[in-house]
Amino acid sequence: MQLKSLSIGSAHSALQARQTTPLALAEAHYKQIAQRDHEIGAFLTLCRDRALAQADRIDRLAVEGKPLPPLAGVPVAIKDVMSTRGVRTTAGSKMLDKYIPPYDCTAVGRMEAAGAVVLGKTNCDEFAMGSSNENSAYFPVHNPRDLSRVPGGSSGGSAAAVAADMAVAALGSDTGGSIRQPASFCGVVGLTPTYGRVSRYGLIAFASSLDHIGPLTKTVKDAATVLQVIAGRDSMDSTSADLPVPDYVSELEKPIRGMEVGVAKEYFGEGLDDEVRHAIECAIDKLKNLGCEIVPISLPHTPYAIPTYYLIATAEASSNLARYDGVRYSLRARGVKTLSEMYRRSRDEGFGAEVKRRIMLGTYALSAGYYDAYYLKAQKVRTLLTRDFDEAFRKVDAIVTPTSPTPAFRIGEKSNDPLAMYLADIYTVTADLAGIPAISIPCGETQEKLPIGLQILGRHFDEATILRLAHAYEQA
Ligand code: GLN
Repeated sequence: MQLKSLSIGSAHSALQARQTTPLALAEAHYKQIAQRDHEIGAFLTLCRDRALAQADRIDRLAVEGKPLPPLAGVPVAIKDVMSTRGVRTTAGSKMLDKYIPPYDCTAVGRMEAAGAVVLGKTNCDEFAMGSSNENSAYFPVHNPRDLSRVPGGSSGGSAAAVAADMAVAALGSDTGGSIRQPASFCGVVGLTPTYGRVSRYGLIAFASSLDHIGPLTKTVKDAATVLQVIAGRDSMDSTSADLPVPDYVSELEKPIRGMEVGVAKEYFGEGLDDEVRHAIECAIDKLKNLGCEIVPISLPHTPYAIPTYYLIATAEASSNLARYDGVRYSLRARGVKTLSEMYRRSRDEGFGAEVKRRIMLGTYALSAGYYDAYYLKAQKVRTLLTRDFDEAFRKVDAIVTPTSPTPAFRIGEKSNDPLAMYLADIYTVTADLAGIPAISIPCGETQEKLPIGLQILGRHFDEATILRLAHAYEQA
């Protein structure tokens, strides 16, 4: 048995049958990290003591013959925007280089309560702002499939860790595509749940009306298992929904025959790479063969999604990032004489170029005189985009699209052209703007062996349907 290439499901069975131990699983993954991560750069911090103590706890459960919780002994990685008590949490920024949170993010706490073994914290774009991981203040992440290429972003470290067998599963965050796009670039599964499905308590905020936490895994079933564990109301996050959590894993096996699947022409326009288009068309054919009804639909406001997203996300970011003032937990510049000089220099030294660009764009969009023309208008267009989906979901149960217009691009290819980088988020930002759930699953490769991702969008709080469709496609 290759310990490092297990899925959650197979690790669980192996542990239950006592063919391996949580300690052996953790060690196999740390060994893989030691062998591969020097060339990939997925991890910023490893937390070996915490991992081994947890593995030991789970070991004892197994020895006592107690029933094992769903993530018992599963080695996982956590994007470094989620607070971990006693373990450095940087958000990929120099601003938080020395930040050691005094509490755990709810999602991380729930993973550990379900038996997961947290191996470490993964690299990401600074404050989750980016699509390539080149905006990390530490080092870029390299795509495990082709080290000269980006892993996607901003959860690139989490995606690369799972793709390179350095973790069985990972948590990422998604504001405009940061779970799904890296999942598609690295050839793994990435799920962005409905807004409010998973608590964000302890997530370092980027844009609060858009931020989500979700899993990156090797299989759709694993994504369902992790969602099951992290979903549900949390009294520490007033935006978490007070709705029952369905049994996502058992729902997977329900038939998909007769499901109505929408295909929107707006997602197949200019800029879509030919090989990606071909792979998505084949996936649609496969769904048809599995008994789905393919329904042409239109989401007419899609062309406005990128400007809408980049106005709202930057506006919210400029407000959320105001707290990094050098006073409490963030970096404080040395040798300053006045309070305002301390603020200015701390923010200048602590934030990288992309974060500064976003703070300036967002501050501008919110400023007197421009608020109505930019921020308010973007909010109105956001409503139109949401209505497009409401309309479409009256006719169909799910919508399939490419996750990204291209496969993984080369490191450095777009880093000097922020607009080109922003445009690459075209297919992912819409789900975040509408707050609907979306999943990216592998659907083939290019001739150069680069993974391609298929995105499936669903109705609010209907993760079960998109997981079911994704699972059926994956099995087929
Ligand atoms: N790439 C998008 C951005 O740069 C999305 C980031 C995210 O989802 N965190 O804002």
